[in-house]
Amino acid sequence: MSEELCYSTISELSGRLGRGELSAVELMRAVIARTKEVDGRVGAFNSFDEGDALAQALASDGRRAKARAAGADGRGRHLEGIPVGIKDVISVAGQPLTASSRMLENFVSPYDATVIRKLKEAGATCWGRLNLDEFAMGSSTENSAFRATSNPWDLERVPGGSSGGSAAAVAAGEAVAALGSDTGGSIRQPAALCNVVGLKPTYGRVSRYGLIAFASSLDQIGAFARSVEDAALVLGAIAGHDCRDSTSVRKDVPDYVGGMAALAQSGRRWRLGIPKEYFGGGLDPEVGAAVQAAIDEYRGLGCEVREVSLPHTKYAIGTYYIIATAECSSNLARYDGVRYGSRSKDATDALDIYFKSRAEGFGPEVKRRIILGTYVLSSGYYDAYYLRAQKVRTLIRRDFLEAFTQVDAILTPTSPTPAFRKGEKSADPLAMYLSDIYTIGVNLAGLPGISIPCGFTRGGLPIGLQAIGQPFKETELLAIAGAYEGRTDWRTRRPRL
Ligand code: GLN
Repeated sequence: MSEELCYSTISELSGRLGRGELSAVELMRAVIARTKEVDGRVGAFNSFDEGDALAQALASDGRRAKARAAGADGRGRHLEGIPVGIKDVISVAGQPLTASSRMLENFVSPYDATVIRKLKEAGATCWGRLNLDEFAMGSSTENSAFRATSNPWDLERVPGGSSGGSAAAVAAGEAVAALGSDTGGSIRQPAALCNVVGLKPTYGRVSRYGLIAFASSLDQIGAFARSVEDAALVLGAIAGHDCRDSTSVRKDVPDYVGGMAALAQSGRRWRLGIPKEYFGGGLDPEVGAAVQAAIDEYRGLGCEVREVSLPHTKYAIGTYYIIATAECSSNLARYDGVRYGSRSKDATDALDIYFKSRAEGFGPEVKRRIILGTYVLSSGYYDAYYLRAQKVRTLIRRDFLEAFTQVDAILTPTSPTPAFRKGEKSADPLAMYLSDIYTIGVNLAGLPGISIPCGFTRGGLPIGLQAIGQPFKETELLAIAGAYEGRTDWRTRRPRL
């Protein structure tokens, strides 16, 4: 019974909550019990505050009772009473905010991120602090300073990263949905490796206020969910302009779920592009076969499938690792041991505080990125690296926009391989960086992307299909993802835990 609840979708649960068959407190209790049962093995959470979560759920039940007494039917408040897990890089007032780093081990956030304020306004319960690669730098969640999260489908394997805790929590029934952040694939890649839906919105669609900055021109907050519709519900709640984030865009937030349904009704024949550069060497044959089968399914739905070319794809990883490291070296300069974060105990003077606090507070991957970023920004190298990378970024974006003159969306594998074994790539940063080959271009171009479950390997590991959409056309992207999802039952499978 309680496991059933934990594996229900937002749409199912909000129906039951609305009819009074279930209370938010009962639902939260079930999720807490499930988390206590499995998280010792999965390790999705850095921490959770049971009392706070139950208090939020109780308040939700109170709001519902009050609305009912006033004759309101609560329709449209789909997130009311739904436990949503939060990546530990998004500020929730009064809760720890660690970025899975020693640097912020004892830091408590003084304010709510805009996405959290919006989730709370929608009635959701913000649940727990979910593990990640330190400061969101990584693709396996092994770079967390605290512990490596395990993939619920095979505990010896990684859940992907950097939002591995968010993906694993949803896959293991420890949260109904979750928030993550995606700078180069950190929502879509772990979603693919854990058999859940992961949505990265268009850059500027969701406010970054209260998100710990990694690479500000690439970072975007998005959703993990059990279905495309659930991802649409979460996006609808968190999207919108925010005067506290000057890169958030002044555009109305559409009714994503209603829009998806209308498009499904209209029977529109989607034009889908398959980039030839994404199906070459390095793609695991079982992943390739599952993605091809998904593309055939789209053909079966009457979609027009054609080959497109994204010729600058080969520069995407190099470009990303110049821009992301440059921005991170600048963003992470604020952790100096003076104003906040951890301070070295045996520093003797001001300079010593900076050096020792940073040497002790940051892990090896974060240091590698700061050093690389400082190098590419240094005088004499700036033009050769950073400036050139910005130009290549423009070419990568143009490739996509050119493809979108012919197609409505682009379909690709999300990750070149299924979940890999823990430790398999930790000694080789370049091998790890290659896990993001299909997702990184989307961030460089600022586009929306979604990963949806599309099959399993013979060994029982999940495979994800990525759909990439045009800027701010999330409704179309969700409709396209939903069309495939409706023909399959991959998303309903559960790991044996
Ligand atoms: N894996 C990529 C990196 O290590 C992307 C991470 C992310 O999207 N936060 O930078």
